[in-house]
Amino acid sequence: MASQHKVLIVGGGISGMTLAHGLARDGADVRVVECSHRTDQQGTGISLLGNALRALDRVGLADSCMAAGSGWDTVSVRNGAGEVVNERRPPRTFRADAPGAIGIMRPKLAEVLEGHALASGARIDYGTSVDDLEQDGNGVSYRLSTGEAGRCDLLVIADGTYSKTRSKVFGAHYRPEYAGQGAWRFTVERPPGFDGLVLYKHDDGRMVGGLPLSDKLCYYFFLENAKLHAHMPQEKLVDMFRQRLDGFSAPDLCAALERCDGTRYISYRPFDILLMPQPWHRGRIVLAGDAAHSVTPQLTSGGGMAIEDAVVLTEELTRCANIDDALLAYGQRRSGRVKRVFDISLAICAVEQDPHGDGARAVELLFEGYGVLAQPF
Ligand SMILES: Cc1cc2nc3c(=O)[nH]c(=O)nc-3n(C[C@H](O)[C@H](O)[C@H](O)COP(=O)(O)OP(=O)(O)OC[C@H]3O[C@@H](n4cnc5c(N)ncnc54)[C@H](O)[C@@H]3O)c2cc1C
Repeated sequence: MASQHKVLIVGGGISGMTLAHGLARDGADVRVVECSHRTDQQGTGISLLGNALRALDRVGLADSCMAAGSGWDTVSVRNGAGEVVNERRPPRTFRADAPGAIGIMRPKLAEVLEGHALASGARIDYGTSVDDLEQDGNGVSYRLSTGEAGRCDLLVIADGTYSKTRSKVFGAHYRPEYAGQGAWRFTVERPPGFDGLVLYKHDDGRMVGGLPLSDKLCYYFFLENAKLHAHMPQEKLVDMFRQRLDGFSAPDLCAALERCDGTRYISYRPFDILLMPQPWHRGRIVLAGDAAHSVTPQLTSGGGMAIEDAVVLTEELTRCANIDDALLAYGQRRSGRVKRVFDISLAICAVEQDPHGDGARAVELLFEGYGVLAQPF
């Protein structure tokens, strides 16, 4: 049925572009409005776990994403000096002959998703957002920031955690809350032997992690427990990041820190969380991705959940006789699974914030989460 629909997607991130491709491929008339400009796309990388690859495969995107990224298969827990304490493998959820996960640079992922969405026939307008919208029983009338007015059968809100469109439609009282933690991320050349998620635990309780992003690059992250929702001054990020890693003596970490000179990507971002209650739709307007559920990133699965949303919405719009049934079915398929992933991510975040928290418990929860993600969706 998707072929009969005219769909406007607000937000051209991971969920918006995956959905645009899926629906346009099924013949729908799809338009994406993305407020940023195409050249704005930056950032470091992201891990897509096996469940995300499996979902991408359902809309024919897994091979392109895997080709643009770098596979990984191990979670290696090390001490502050870099000695391996424990090594485990996440499940190969997608295929036995495919890695458990890939790392991929965010601009690369955006390029792949955009390319497929365009090739499938979707229209993408950058530097554009929705100023006004109003719905009746059959669809949504809208006015874009360019002044253009239009109408669609379905409007998808995929504009992320701080979604203004969600506020307009569902109410401004649904606001993300600070989770008491934030992440420092620093992109650098990938050292030899750096083949998976690496977690360095210092005796004093601090933890630094690292993830491969491509054959050449990786990123190191440091999770900081902070009472306040802080925005760190850009010009001080390098010094502050170095201070936080003081005392770790793992050779690859020390080498990375020597290269931490302000010319490379470095950022600090506090974690803001939100889980929208069901239903995720109001009439012909529906939420997807972070606009519906912003999880803390311990399971590296917010993007995977956004991809799964896009795939399930595509499947239900194709399968169901009408849009109303499809939106109900979409919410029913997503709610329990998303809540479990949200809860486990937050439980790991809580263990990490507990001064007496058990690091081994955090790794157990991580693998419990991988088990949930491996279940069918
Ligand atoms: C520190 C950190 C690390 C993470 N690591 C991982 C990871 O390794 N793996 C993983 O799967 N997930 C990870 N995530 C989560 C992941 O980034 C998100 O879940 C994912 O980006 C959600 O995709 P989305 O399309 O829903 O939203 P977004 O990616 O936020 O995209 C929303 C888009 O909407 C646009 N937009 C915003 N407002 C408007 C508007 N009014 N009109 C039009 N467009 C608008 C934005 O410019 C943006 O392009 C991480 C998150 C954080 C904070």
